[in-house]
Amino acid sequence: MRHLIQNGRVIDPASGIDEKLNILIEDGKISCLSREKPDADLITDATGLVVCPGFIDLHAHEDPVKNGIRYADEQKANLACLARMGVTSCLAGNCGDNFCDPSEFLDLIDREGCFVNVAMLAGYTFFREKLSAAGRYKPVSFSERRSINAEIAKALEAGCAGVSFGLEYVPGMSREELREAAHLCASSGKMIAAHIRACAEKAPEAAAEVLELAKAESIPVQISHIGSMAGYGQMSEFLDLVDSYRSSGVDVCCDCYPYTAFSTTIGSAPYDNLEEIHCSYGDIELCEGKYKGLRCTGQIFEQERKEHPEYLTVGHVMKEEEVRMAFRHPNVAVGSDCFLSEGNGHPRAAGSFPRFLSMYAGNCGLSLPEALFRITALPARRLGLSNKGTLRPGADADIVLLDPNRLKDRATFQEPTLPPDGIQAVFIAGRPAIKDGKIINGTLGKAIRK
Ligand SMILES: [Zn+2]
Repeated sequence: MRHLIQNGRVIDPASGIDEKLNILIEDGKISCLSREKPDADLITDATGLVVCPGFIDLHAHEDPVKNGIRYADEQKANLACLARMGVTSCLAGNCGDNFCDPSEFLDLIDREGCFVNVAMLAGYTFFREKLSAAGRYKPVSFSERRSINAEIAKALEAGCAGVSFGLEYVPGMSREELREAAHLCASSGKMIAAHIRACAEKAPEAAAEVLELAKAESIPVQISHIGSMAGYGQMSEFLDLVDSYRSSGVDVCCDCYPYTAFSTTIGSAPYDNLEEIHCSYGDIELCEGKYKGLRCTGQIFEQERKEHPEYLTVGHVMKEEEVRMAFRHPNVAVGSDCFLSEGNGHPRAAGSFPRFLSMYAGNCGLSLPEALFRITALPARRLGLSNKGTLRPGADADIVLLDPNRLKDRATFQEPTLPPDGIQAVFIAGRPAIKDGKIINGTLGKAIRK
């Protein structure tokens, strides 16, 4: 089938194109960009719209899988929210977490399709919890390490893009564990992604731990959601440190979501010491249960932490200027950190990309093509996806049509899954996936194996 998207302002940061052009798509690939209007079976008119590559989310979480069934509620699923905001590919399995074996998740997507294309990280904590009795405050034994590493090696072999760590969530995780898992990536040409061991004052030191590791093993490292790690007054020092490793040859990239609130479960280890994460009870909002939408008091916090450690919370504590500083840095991509519990949680899952473009890019001195670079070409390069994140002939026809005058996130802390305004249409492999904020085909996404 020949599909022509005509009359739009085509912006392809990877190839430096920004002009009114028509795009012909054949067999799911970009066939040509031209001023002519070749014959087509399907014509989409993009007059007044920007036509750009589909967005790539470097920091996603897959949806839960129970008994082999993937949570895929079109209104509430993480990956559905991503699709509605223009994401066509994502890297899931971040922060050490998976809901099922990551290679099985890739197989599931092969069989069923998905809202977006999905690459996976093997979550270290997932395998650690499955294969050791250590718990999060103690290191695992030598023999447990061997079985964890064997499973991770299998996941990498099956096409996972690398290994993710959630060090802050697992304070007992030893340097040996970290080093051995990272070494598996070195021998297979993969990357590590790290939610580092500590935030705020300790963030630079915690980043140095994984940067040293990446240097020693000569592997790429992705530092996760740096706004929530260093957005309390440490961002400048943090970015200087990243730059110093980068100039010494370490392949490091960071991601960040455009909000001044983090999100995690109330029972998680970062809440062990509120002072350390610059948090008071009143900064913490509950996203689930009978106190949903309310800020904590000491009593509510302790009670819910004990009775419902799995409840999601939001912590309104980071500094706006620090988050902006992160996005001004050329090697910071947008990562949504989408993590909803049946539609409850942080609005970043449904708002990050439009919010970055409409609210942060201009304030950070980025033109529209520069901002689009951060969410298309930069993450594609990071993942080594030469056929994505660009509209070059031959590339996969994953395309977003957006109205720059209407573009705005609508998801809020009260209604975290509201789709944005201004994402007019999304195509995956040339086929319509989203129209006017609604999913019209949720099965076009494929597994991305590395
Ligand atoms: Zn994380």
